Amino acid sequence: MIRKLFNKLFRSKSSKAGHAKLEQHSIELASKLRGLHRPVLGAKKTAKARHGHREGAAVIAVGRHQIDRNELSNAAIRTIESLQKAGFEAYVVGGAVRDLLLQRHPKDFDVATDATPEEVHRIFRRSRIIGRRFRLVHVIFGSETIEVSTFRGHHHAEGDAHTDVSGRILRDNVFGSLQEDATRRDFTVNALYYDPTSQEVLDFHRGFEDVQASTLRMIGSPETRYAEDPVRMLRAVRLSAKLGFHIDVATMAPIAKMADLLQDVPPSRLFDEMLKLFLSGHAIESVSVLREQHLHHGLLPMLDVVLEQPLGERFVMLALKNTDDRILSGKSANPSFLFATLLWHEVLAAWEPYKVEMPLIPALHQAMSEVIALQAEKLAIHHRYTATMKEIWAMQPRFEQRAGKRPFGLLTHPRYRAGFDFLLLRCESGEAPAELGEWWASFAEAEAEERNAMLLADTAPKHRRKRKRNKPASSATTS
Ligand code: ATP
Ligand code: MG
Repeated sequence: MIRKLFNKLFRSKSSKAGHAKLEQHSIELASKLRGLHRPVLGAKKTAKARHGHREGAAVIAVGRHQIDRNELSNAAIRTIESLQKAGFEAYVVGGAVRDLLLQRHPKDFDVATDATPEEVHRIFRRSRIIGRRFRLVHVIFGSETIEVSTFRGHHHAEGDAHTDVSGRILRDNVFGSLQEDATRRDFTVNALYYDPTSQEVLDFHRGFEDVQASTLRMIGSPETRYAEDPVRMLRAVRLSAKLGFHIDVATMAPIAKMADLLQDVPPSRLFDEMLKLFLSGHAIESVSVLREQHLHHGLLPMLDVVLEQPLGERFVMLALKNTDDRILSGKSANPSFLFATLLWHEVLAAWEPYKVEMPLIPALHQAMSEVIALQAEKLAIHHRYTATMKEIWAMQPRFEQRAGKRPFGLLTHPRYRAGFDFLLLRCESGEAPAELGEWWASFAEAEAEERNAMLLADTAPKHRRKRKRNKPASSATTS
């Protein structure tokens, strides 16, 4: 590309020496323009140039670490090889390296490179630039997406990084060197870089030792790093529970006194982090540490809901246990189901007063809408989840109807399985009779004839009486 630019600019045939001088000049110019002092764009670097950026890093050679290159996805390897072929540095970074060192199968692969998002996008036909606060590129290989981010620089460098009065980073799009990128990451064990070509791990912050000692340690001053991004406090809790690591004393110490800062985090970001926590396979453990560290009280509305309703606590804990078990045995867990459990006891409480006002089912729908309107905003639950939550809730009274054709209808409900699992949790928590769950388990399994024999006598009135409205509509509200 630079050569093309060069030819366009300097079409004359110059002497070899002059040609080289001019070319060097245009390359330096292009390099300066990009703000990154990198050698020739698109040209292969010499071994020396490739390794220049390692300054300050411990290089852990294959043999000392146990990463098996075959554990990487093809997509990750192809992404890195293509970037390296184009003359860029590229590494697997973050959670994937940490997990590979721990002989765990990484959830996904993130790649860090010195190529800018635009340069990455140009190399991969199937890719798109995403994000505002943190611009990166999604490179798509079939069903797999590799997240490619450009090395981040120090946020106090000139550029478009902004912090607010409490030191929180609002935008982080200043590019930098590999070493700077490592320093911008949260924990030492998350700042390791693996090059699948050389099979070496680069370590700027003694993360390799910390992996071996099962220690989660913040890079830099923990106070400053939490002030920059309070979500790091939640990440400390979540990652230590997930990895079975202990949190280093200095990393842990400021959390309880800085917990208030979470209030300033936008609800949608908090929601994403809480979702990760609930679906980590270690929700129960994480929730108990959050509680110990006072990270829940009044700060995370969802956790208030979870922990501060005595009636619901048992149900919610069972639901979290159930989710943990599912995740740890490799099954998926549906966020809508989880939120439906978190808010069920709110719905039950809201349902009561409406039951006096109107028939059972419309009363339930009123209660559901009320809880959703109140909580969804507070918890920033995305609309795509609320429809399914309502379906799961609305199915619950239908499980009590075990006569006539109704049970057959319920079995064909597209969300039957979720509704039934929800019922089982209600039975286990003691809110619904155990016999009800057992009946439905047998009914669903039974042959047609058996099913007919299982039906209960139909005691429901054939025609519903229409209620007379004596009072004006406005008085039919609860306070
Ligand atoms: P998981 O296995 O749960 O995905 P992870 O460490 O990979 O854990 P991600 O959210 O996928 O977590 O982040 C990828 C990497 O980005 C992290 O390993 C870390 O290096 C960096 N990172 C993520 N969030 C932050 C943050 N808030 N501050 C600094 N660095 C972060
Ligand atoms: Mg990750």
